[in-house]
Amino acid sequence: MKITVDGEKGLVFEGKKEAAMPAAAHPEKAPVSFARTKPITATEVKVNVSIPEATARAVETQADGVGLLRIEHMILGLPKHPKQYIKEGKADEYVNELVSRIQTVVDAFYPKPVWVRTLDAPTDEFRAMEGGEGEPIEPNPMLGYRGIRRDLIDTEHFELEVRAFKELIKRGYNNMGIMIPLVQHPSELRRAKEFMLEKGLDISKIDIGIMVEIPAAALIIDQFIAEGLDFVSFGTNDLTQYTLAVDRNNEHVAHLYNEMHPAIMKLIEHVIIECNKAGVKTSICGQAGSYPKVAKRLVELGITSISANIDAVEAVRDMVARTELQLLLKAARERKCQ
Ligand code: PEP
Ligand code: MG
Repeated sequence: MKITVDGEKGLVFEGKKEAAMPAAAHPEKAPVSFARTKPITATEVKVNVSIPEATARAVETQADGVGLLRIEHMILGLPKHPKQYIKEGKADEYVNELVSRIQTVVDAFYPKPVWVRTLDAPTDEFRAMEGGEGEPIEPNPMLGYRGIRRDLIDTEHFELEVRAFKELIKRGYNNMGIMIPLVQHPSELRRAKEFMLEKGLDISKIDIGIMVEIPAAALIIDQFIAEGLDFVSFGTNDLTQYTLAVDRNNEHVAHLYNEMHPAIMKLIEHVIIECNKAGVKTSICGQAGSYPKVAKRLVELGITSISANIDAVEAVRDMVARTELQLLLKAARERKCQ
């Protein structure tokens, strides 16, 4: 079925619809152009990248790095399922594919940091790939075999990821950090680090962090910090679904999905306070980080960086800059009154 989606307004039309002429094409509607310099913010403003093809656009945003590089989207762009490569004895080819796709991004951003997330493959999406028939059929894939729990079971695949990371480090990409998704207990972080070390990845040379996207991880963040980590990043897409018991793929409960629910903000606040005490960097890479209103609150709470979608970087950066100035002004006024 052919449809047209207006991604900006959230509208869906039946059939093919020509896009409205961009404003710039109407001389009378063209925005007044003004020279604009990027505001410098103390809070870093980064960008999320899912596919290497988006790298050039991501670089154009002049972001301070990549706060989330999703490798599963790169894998979904391959002609076949990773297991199929392994079955055909082509694991090396698969590793090379991973290396070249990740390299496109870490190279374009060098020396700015790029946090590469280990595989977070939902079984339902991977099953559709050639050779993906072996993916388990789960009643609720969102609560299932994905994230680090999957890598710790399917270590054959985890090892191939580690081989790709090792190769990138060998090629000099010391700006790469590794982010572990969907952790719910510090033992998962420990086992993931042990595995990477065992397979010869010198994790002391790179930043290692976790996604905070399960409420359990937020509540016991002190234990994760004690385990040893350089950064955390809020995955608010999952943190929202798990905190509010709202399947993010279920249209029937979509009206209950609220990333700014006070319980979520409370979890985030707790994590930022604990991480700031311990000198661990905090960031956000879920969709909520692309909303200027959320960015404002996070800066007030003391987050280290915000990673937004490509089209939201500018608006988020403006809000971050304004909020930082407001905080400074408030502090100056308070001091004057004393
Ligand atoms: C998140 O959960 O907010 C996130 C960034 O991860 P994903 O959307 O890929 O699950
Ligand atoms: Mg997630």
